[in-house]
Amino acid sequence: MAVKTGFDLKLFRNIGIAAHIDAGKTTTTERILYYTGRIHKIGEVHEGAATMDWMDQERERGITITAAVTTANWKHSKTEVEHRINIIDTPGHVDFTIEVERSMRVLDGAVAVFDASQGVEPQSETVWRQADKYRVPRIAFANKMDKTGADLWLVVNTMKERLGAKPVVMQLPIGREDTFKGIIDVLRQKAVIFKDDVGKEQEVIEVPEEYKAQAEEYFEKLVEAAADYDEGIMMKFLEGEKPSEEEIIRAIRKGTIAIEIFPVFLGSALKNKGVQLLLDGVVDYLPSPLDIPPIKGKTESGEEVERPADPNGPLAALAFKIMADPYVGRLTFIRVYSGTLKSGSYVQNTTKGKKERVARLLQMHANHREEVEELRAGELGAVVGLKDTITGDSLVGDGDEPITLESIEIPEPVIDLAIEPKTKADQDKLGVALSRLGEEDPTFRIATDPETGQTIISGMGELHLEIIVDRLKREFKVDANVGKPQVAYRETITRPVDVEGKFVRQSGGRGQYGHVKIKAEPLGRGAGFEFVNAIVGGVIPKEYIPAVQ
Ligand code: GDP
Repeated sequence: MAVKTGFDLKLFRNIGIAAHIDAGKTTTTERILYYTGRIHKIGEVHEGAATMDWMDQERERGITITAAVTTANWKHSKTEVEHRINIIDTPGHVDFTIEVERSMRVLDGAVAVFDASQGVEPQSETVWRQADKYRVPRIAFANKMDKTGADLWLVVNTMKERLGAKPVVMQLPIGREDTFKGIIDVLRQKAVIFKDDVGKEQEVIEVPEEYKAQAEEYFEKLVEAAADYDEGIMMKFLEGEKPSEEEIIRAIRKGTIAIEIFPVFLGSALKNKGVQLLLDGVVDYLPSPLDIPPIKGKTESGEEVERPADPNGPLAALAFKIMADPYVGRLTFIRVYSGTLKSGSYVQNTTKGKKERVARLLQMHANHREEVEELRAGELGAVVGLKDTITGDSLVGDGDEPITLESIEIPEPVIDLAIEPKTKADQDKLGVALSRLGEEDPTFRIATDPETGQTIISGMGELHLEIIVDRLKREFKVDANVGKPQVAYRETITRPVDVEGKFVRQSGGRGQYGHVKIKAEPLGRGAGFEFVNAIVGGVIPKEYIPAVQ
């Protein structure tokens, strides 16, 4: 049955769990879904029970490829106010940088998960820089506090040294490694002791005597950090008066949303310790859609406009993920920035200049999907029925001024390989399958070598293409032979090409409809070699290919 969510916009948190592979992103996400009541069994990740990883191969490889959004509710354990948390899945593998980028684009805040036994690792740095680029406020989670070598200070210090970030310690551990059994809440000067294996039974006690001095020292540091964002706290601090819990939260929240400070939480997702407190932290410190700057767009005449998160304003939405779904066909994941998108309505895809119909709207929960009547400003969900919309496209209301939103930067692929079906009879099937995969993934390109007629696929790395070949076999039942991956030197030029009746992906997310990027590859496969880099629509007629000098 179609329902309305009814949540106040300020109670929304659209977050990503950003982490480098193995830091514990999947386990943390799974625990979040467990505590938010959407899944009822804690399963061991990588042993077949992960809920976020939709595809078999993700489980096998232990990586997350899809960037779906999962909707959950969380009641803050102190205020008991129910909040809606949309978790946008962000992959951690470098080959899927584009997936990370597009999820960063649509989320308002992130939890950066670090392995406390490793601190900030080179790959966590990459994810961090991306979050900087998209101006995403973050809180940090020092995970794996139960592990040998786990050390909160390693995380705190490497955040300062490697990331140049200003961490604010919100919690202190009680015990370490295999004796890790509780968390001191620095703000409230209380200790939480975990009593059972699933983290449901927790006892809140006074800070144990041996931790008192440390807890007080970090409370002072917290107040100092908060004072930077609130004059009143500064005055109280100077007069030796204690600012209230609410005052400190408000100030730290302000600094976090300004991306100047990063509250640090800790725990062990695997041992179910600390995830509920982390969720309270998400609510306390990460922004709601109302706290972020309005999305910017351009009118047809090139004038810049802003669309604040107002459900009653003109509709502005961005598509950030396309997924083939076995039940309903094509799913287009979108974020609505302004206005309200209604099921059954017509929208304009301003990137393509096409009118599209929204047949149904869905919200994905960890264990079920829910049909909704509308998605309001600040909400994310999936649309059924859009035919021509792809990642990065802007949608506005049917009668609204046609603006295009700031889009997602789509990087050029870095690796090419030739592909052919094992049996000639599968040639057409291969073409169809590749086009489908290309529609889902803008960094995956298909081209035809005009001289040899060979099909060339390009992607962000070897693993990316390996997964494509694997998916061809599993999902499309096409067995393919591939050549050696080639890292090609390339120079790119853009010129408008009118390809009749066929859609050619715009280049690098910047060009216009109908512009294709021409790749010149003077090295590797013979001098003067060139081909058109098209994503869907198959072969571009040879006469459209200009000579490249
Ligand atoms: P992801 O690659 O970031 O999604 O990481 P996973 O959640 O898949 O975790 C990677 C590995 O670390 C798995 O073997 C997990 O069981 C393990 N792991 C995750 N969280 C913890 C934790 O809190 N403590 C310990 N000791 N291991 C953990």
